[in-house]
Formats: sequence, C-alpha cells, structure tokens
Amino acid sequence: MERLYIGTRESAELIDITGKVKEIVKSSVVDSGICVIFTKHTTSGIIINENEAGLKRDFLALLNELIPKGRGYLHDRIDNNAHSHLRSVLLGSSVTIPIEKGDLALGTWQSIFFVECDGPRRREVYVKVIEG
Ligand code: ZN
Repeated sequence: MERLYIGTRESAELIDITGKVKEIVKSSVVDSGICVIFTKHTTSGIIINENEAGLKRDFLALLNELIPKGRGYLHDRIDNNAHSHLRSVLLGSSVTIPIEKGDLALGTWQSIFFVECDGPRRREVYVKVIEG
C-alpha cells in the first residue's frame, strides 16, 4: 500500500493524480489486477472524469449549485463545513480501476481526480495495488 500526500490550495478544487497513481502501479510490477484509490477524509472525494479546464469549472459550479455553503445545515453548528461533508458523500471516497499489461486500463479521456471540498489542507490518499 502506497500513500500520496496532496497539499491543496483552494476551498474547492480538482487535482489530477493520474500520473502519480500510474507510477505506483508501474513500480508494483503487477501485470494484471486492480488498483484502489481511497481518500482518508470525510470532506474530499475521488472521481474519474475528463481533464478539461472548462469541464473542471463546470463541475465545481455544479457542486456549488447542488450543495451550497451555509444552507442552515445542523453540522454547521459544530465546525461550519457541512457542505464539504455532503459534497464528499455525493462524490464517494474511492475508485477501483483494472490493471492490464502493467498499466491502468483507463479510457482515452479518463483521468483520476482528488476532489478537495474543504481546503486548503494537507491530504492523504491510499493507493492499493492487488494482483489477480
Ligand atoms: Zn465537519
């Protein structure tokens, strides 16, 4: 199991971690299997989608629209970040990707993103490669 440490800079942002995950898969020397990418936090997510600048902004705008900050959430009484938790639930905490011929079997337009929902923070992501 490998760890990625990510320093985020914005309150909400998408960070492409595809290259780092690919390096881990290659160094594992697993030819066929699966790779699990898992965020250790309750206010972030892991998704697969296209790395296109406009789309990334559209995505963050959609999160804002669906789950705006400060809508009278009960959790805001504790630490004022209920929207971050709710967005995280919507996104999910992990993705699983097949490994074929020693590499991630991603589609042409697929990239792996860490999604910050409560930054800036230092974040930890687990990458687990399983042979099979
Ligand atoms: Zn909280």
